[in-house]
Amino acid sequence: MGVFTGANDASRPGNLDGRPYICMGCEATFEVQYHSCPSCGGFDVRRAEWLGE
Ligand SMILES: [Zn+2]
Repeated sequence: MGVFTGANDASRPGNLDGRPYICMGCEATFEVQYHSCPSCGGFDVRRAEWLGE
């Protein structure tokens, strides 16, 4: 539960191989949006599509 299949989003721009969230600190990508990056501990994790492609 709480996990989308991604089938409806597969053709959308900005979808980075099913990992649409990116940390602006270390550029790690995630399937879900973390409140803080588990890799570098940064708090600036956002959807990649917000970056304008
Ligand atoms: Zn990070």
